[in-house]
Amino acid sequence: MKLAINRVHSPVTALGYGRRLGIWTQGCPLACRGCMSRDTWDPAAGAEVAVEALADLWGQAVRDGADGLTVSGGEPLTQPAALAAFLELAHEIRGEAEREIDLLVYTGYEESELGEDQLAAVRHADVLITGRYEVARPTRLIWRGSAGQRMLIRTELGERRYRPYVDHEPERSPMQVTADERGVWLIGVPGEGTLPALERALRSRGVEARHPTWRP
Ligand code: SF4
Repeated sequence: MKLAINRVHSPVTALGYGRRLGIWTQGCPLACRGCMSRDTWDPAAGAEVAVEALADLWGQAVRDGADGLTVSGGEPLTQPAALAAFLELAHEIRGEAEREIDLLVYTGYEESELGEDQLAAVRHADVLITGRYEVARPTRLIWRGSAGQRMLIRTELGERRYRPYVDHEPERSPMQVTADERGVWLIGVPGEGTLPALERALRSRGVEARHPTWRP
C-alpha cells in the first residue's frame, strides 16, 4: 500500500508538541482560499511511497527521540486506506517505545463530514486538527490558521499533552524554515499577514520568492 506524499521533515517543532516527524500528504480537493500549501493540491503530483518505508522513517525518528508524529497535507483523508495502514504501523512503533509519543493528524474536513473509512483511518490519532482554512477568519490559536479550526483531543495522552494548548495564543506563531534541493520550506501555521511581510522583507534585501506555494 502506498501513500502519496509531498514531503517529509524532521525534526518538526512548529506543528505539535515537542520534536516530531512531519509528513505532508499529496492531494487536496478542498481548495481553501489563502491556502499556503497549494503545491499539495494536485493528487497526481508528489511521490507514492510504501507505507512500510514511511514506517521505517518513523521508526528512525522514534529512535532519535521524537515526541510525536504530525500528518498534514494536502488532505490526508483523501487516502483513508493508505493512511490507516500507515498509522497502524506508526501506532505499533510508538507502542514499543519506553516514553509517550503522540500522533496528530490535520484535516480540512470537519469531524461530522468524515465517513466510516476516514474515521477508521485516524482511530489511533491522539489529536485531530479539523476544519477548512478560512482566510477571513484569522486566529492566534497555536497550530491553527483560522478560527473555525478545532483541536479535537481523543485520548488520555492527547488530553495530558494538548489540553493546555486548546486555547493557547502564543505571542508569535511557532515557525521553522528549512531548505532542501526543492527549495526553502516554511513549517508551521503563519499568523495573519506573515507571508506578505516575509515577501516584503525578502524583496527589500533583493531576494524574490520564486513560485511561493501560497500563490496560484
Ligand atoms: S488549507 Fe489544507 S484543507 Fe485547505 S486547501 Fe490547503 S491543504 Fe487543503
